[in-house]
Amino acid sequence: MAKASNKYVFYFGGKRAEGKATMKELLGGKGANLAEMVNIGLPVPAGFTITTEVCTAYYKNKKKYPGELDGQVKIALAKVEKEMGAKFGDSKNPLLVSVRSGARASMPGMMETILNVGLNNVTREALIAKTGNPRFVYDSHRRLIQMYSDVVMEKAAGIEPAEGKGVRQQLESELHKMKVARGVQNDTELTSDDLKELIEIYKEKVKEVLGKPFPENPLEQMWGAVAAVFQSWMGRRAISYRKFENIPDEWGTAVTVQSMVFGNMGESSATGVAFTRNPATGENYFYGEWLTNAQGEDVVAGIRTPFPINEVGKSEHTAHLQSLEVAMPATYKDLHRIQRLLEKHYHDMLDVEFTIQEGKLYMLQCRVGKRNGPAAVKMALDMYKEKLITKEEAVIRVQPAQLDELLHPIIDPKIEKTTTIIAKGLPAGPGGATGQVVFSAVDAVAWEKEGKKVILVREETNPEDIEGMRAAQAILTGRGGMTSHAALVARGWGKCCIVGAGKIKIQYHDKYFTVGDVTVKEGDWLTLNGSKGTVYQGELPMIKAAEENPDFQAFMKLCDAVRKLKVRTNADTPEDAARARAFGAEGIGLFRTEHMFYGLNSEVPLFILRKMILSSTVEERISALNELFPYVKSDMKGTMEAMDGFGVTIRTIDPPLHEFVPTRQDEREKLASSLGISIEALNDRADKLHENNPMMGHRGVRLGITYPEVTEMQVRAIFEAAAELLQDGKKPFPEIMIPVTCSVNEVKNQYEIVSKVYAEICEKFGLKKIPHLTGTMIEIPRACLTANKMAEVAQFFSFGTNDLTQMGFGFSRDDIGGFLPEYLEKKILPEDPFQSIDQEAIGELMKIAVERGRATRPDLKIGICGEHGGEPKSVEFCHNIGLNYVSCSPFRVPIARLAAAQAAVKGMKVVKKAAKKK
Ligand code: PEP
Ligand code: MG
Repeated sequence: MAKASNKYVFYFGGKRAEGKATMKELLGGKGANLAEMVNIGLPVPAGFTITTEVCTAYYKNKKKYPGELDGQVKIALAKVEKEMGAKFGDSKNPLLVSVRSGARASMPGMMETILNVGLNNVTREALIAKTGNPRFVYDSHRRLIQMYSDVVMEKAAGIEPAEGKGVRQQLESELHKMKVARGVQNDTELTSDDLKELIEIYKEKVKEVLGKPFPENPLEQMWGAVAAVFQSWMGRRAISYRKFENIPDEWGTAVTVQSMVFGNMGESSATGVAFTRNPATGENYFYGEWLTNAQGEDVVAGIRTPFPINEVGKSEHTAHLQSLEVAMPATYKDLHRIQRLLEKHYHDMLDVEFTIQEGKLYMLQCRVGKRNGPAAVKMALDMYKEKLITKEEAVIRVQPAQLDELLHPIIDPKIEKTTTIIAKGLPAGPGGATGQVVFSAVDAVAWEKEGKKVILVREETNPEDIEGMRAAQAILTGRGGMTSHAALVARGWGKCCIVGAGKIKIQYHDKYFTVGDVTVKEGDWLTLNGSKGTVYQGELPMIKAAEENPDFQAFMKLCDAVRKLKVRTNADTPEDAARARAFGAEGIGLFRTEHMFYGLNSEVPLFILRKMILSSTVEERISALNELFPYVKSDMKGTMEAMDGFGVTIRTIDPPLHEFVPTRQDEREKLASSLGISIEALNDRADKLHENNPMMGHRGVRLGITYPEVTEMQVRAIFEAAAELLQDGKKPFPEIMIPVTCSVNEVKNQYEIVSKVYAEICEKFGLKKIPHLTGTMIEIPRACLTANKMAEVAQFFSFGTNDLTQMGFGFSRDDIGGFLPEYLEKKILPEDPFQSIDQEAIGELMKIAVERGRATRPDLKIGICGEHGGEPKSVEFCHNIGLNYVSCSPFRVPIARLAAAQAAVKGMKVVKKAAKKK
């Protein structure tokens, strides 16, 4: 939080602003960037920003403003008046303002904006005299009444009208009535006299619905609008948006009061929203939408489908619409110049809002633009190549979740090709999605709770729909462009989304839509391709995407050049190992030997394993182990071959043996006969294996201690496999890992077995040495605390943070589901400690283990192979405490590579800052 100061209002305008881009915490994104644009000489209508500190103080002091605020606003307003050559509330030359919200992080559409503040029966006549354009002035006045009565007089006042009874809807219905009475279709066909009459009808209606007259006093209007913006920070939809996005309530919003310029002054006026590069694909061309004779809200709200800003941005859906480039070439050229200048200045892709008032261009907003994953990767790479940013900056530009989008499912292209497209729209959010159709956000949430996958279909979305949009697999809208609410929100989340599918006709009441002669009812399955904007009936199959995308590969290389941590994978079969190599894994951090007894082709080895488990004498067991040996060896060999040249950490058998005992009678009979014993005898042996608390029972190293022949067989398989590979000219590097240890004596015991077998195999194969290491998992708190002793024998450590979290918290990893949701809800825990390392305590244990382990063995290799190894925050933590590698499931390898690179970049910044301080 910024230090409290007594300056609450920051002016911008002309050639000078009191703020700048780096002051986002105080001025909000909008205020800070408006100031910056003024400072670099761009045409920005003058205004001032009331700081976020006022918002915080307002909520702290029972919705009262600091005493100095009023005076500071007066001074700033006077400067604005001087700059604009007009006076707020003046009866001859009136100034109008917009009042806008602006938080530190952008929250599209979540808070309020009020335009045309300062209009009343007196100022409007003056404005008509000044502009000679009564239609425009009356239209602006009507819009003010509609927006203000809704936002300030109803919502901010806490009035919750019944469905359809809100003042805005009632005013809209008056507008509709007038259109019917005049026999016209569009608002623009109403005459200025019609609008003048409508204003009086509106005022009457406001009084009738809200019980108070519409305020005529311009200052009262302005302060009402300012308060409404502050109120909207604590509005329901802003609160739920913050929750999803982890934005703290304490940040507060700033309020920007800015002189109005008008895009609705006639055909030479316009408004638009644009991106300096295409935010959906990342392609490097100016991309945007515009509307003539309109105000900003018309573009974003999806009320009219906007036109493409230029010729390159046209698609097959928009080819017939006139671009700004063609309609107003000179103004477009100016905008294009500004766009390039902004990107050079900010070194990033920006989104901008602009208004053209009678041919003159004004910039109303700029901010770093939201983009989806594929676009983020492409832009980061391109900007690096263009020397706009460094390698380190490029790496920071892509969020781990965005990278995940590239790995998201797409519709199976073979099936998609042969399926009929029922509708087309704009591709607003990437990837494919399939689900059952619902027509309201409330239904989307309810159906999702029942475990259903849904597609939310709406004419257009608004911020009230946010929870339903979140719950849905994908969103489809009938109206709106690429900058509409649905598109912005979906892009931010990387969610599959199609907007502006104009041919779909939704019947909300009867819960179906039609497109051509197809009817789709609530509950019907629909599949969307959000990258192309195509819609299909039914549930089409999905496939994983993008590992082969060249941008993805190039970006990963950039990450690899920056990161220090190695990234390995947890893989248990040669096939998984090969897949993980393709994802860039540099070795295996955990091969769970027991996993070869599940899944494909595991029937025979599993049967032999069961025989081994149910043996009652050493002889029986050794005979079963000998049978098992070739299977284990072949899997180890295949895996080391797939990872040739990289370390492969093979863990000796870990789970309690009773997990493998069959429960089915026929399987038990087969086993009994193979062992040559009666079914009763077999059942008896099985019962003896039962444990009350198997997770803390006879598992891990404890099995190897009581059944040394089991360890011996595994070690023999590993060394024989490695020896054969060496003879084939390969470079195997096995790392034998002993699990669930709590005492160095356990490690010693197993190490002796390893050493004995090692000598035998070297001799058998005539080899001087087989490169390898023997180490242990660190997954019990006692192992962390005695790490100095552990390292006397163990040549490497690997943190098993699944068990370490289980044992550290005393939470059963299998049963936490019963109480975790309430723990999170009641904020007893900030997050699930099985997903992200609990740095406060489990992390401390890890730090202790690292320090003590390396005190004994300075070059001790240390990694992590618990689930946390693929979670970005935990990866950063592992980097910070000096681990050598993280290991995670194959599909998380790219995320871990990126997170490791970002941790390295953040580390550099910390070092730089520290050096500066010195
Ligand atoms: C761990 O405990 O973190 C671990 C990797 O082992 P497992 O999940 O197999 O117990
Ligand atoms: Mg474990």
